[in-house]
Amino acid sequence: CGIVGYIGQREAYPILIKGLKRLEYRGYDSSGVALMDSGINIYKKQGKVAELETFAKGKNTEGKVGIGHTRWATHGEPNDVNAHPHYSGSSRLAIIHNGIIENYSVLKQDLINKGHVFKSDTDSEVFIHFIEEIQEQHKCNLEEAVRLALHKVVGAYAIIIMSEDSPHQLIAARKGSPLVIGIGKEQEEFFIASDATPIIEYTKEVVYLNDGEIALLTNDSLTIRNIEDIPTTPYIHTLDMEL
Ligand code: GLU
Repeated sequence: CGIVGYIGQREAYPILIKGLKRLEYRGYDSSGVALMDSGINIYKKQGKVAELETFAKGKNTEGKVGIGHTRWATHGEPNDVNAHPHYSGSSRLAIIHNGIIENYSVLKQDLINKGHVFKSDTDSEVFIHFIEEIQEQHKCNLEEAVRLALHKVVGAYAIIIMSEDSPHQLIAARKGSPLVIGIGKEQEEFFIASDATPIIEYTKEVVYLNDGEIALLTNDSLTIRNIEDIPTTPYIHTLDMEL
């Protein structure tokens, strides 16, 4: 039900936890984070963000790229396995998703027939295996695979994807669920969130992603393309809200 992401020079974990707490008002049953260190480390738990913090305490939470999620279960009961992020060892991808994939059962069955093994009962995990399958078939890069996958996905989504093969980037996309990107002020960094509340303390310059847009973020670059692969010029809003 809430999404946060960070890419930059600071430690992502405290920023993600703070952001998830700011999104708590939206309601949720589980939460989780994925952090890019030498590989992706994922911590996720049913319950409050405070329980996630207790669970992650003393573990390796280092990483300057990360994503965080609060889940309001729609497909699959609220438990630790169904909590996001979802990860696949073969594609080395982690994903968070808000929303619903309406055609997930058809896609899932097709992917199972092709040999994909699912860990969770969520609709969201379909994204990761579908993207993996497209990368395999088309031999394309991740951004292209995401774009092709989104052409076939019916439903509402806000997603952020992290890849161990491209550890210095994040890919975000939306349709029907909001996503805001904050542009770092003091240093090269970006913040992503479902609404501006987790971002406002760091920057007032934001770009609202439009429906059907896919954003590719690194420390110092933001490129947005629509689902037809046509680049769009980000419109930078200045927030006038205060915390
Ligand atoms: N449909 C997804 C799930 O049940 C995401 C729900 C949400 O928006 O939090 O895991």
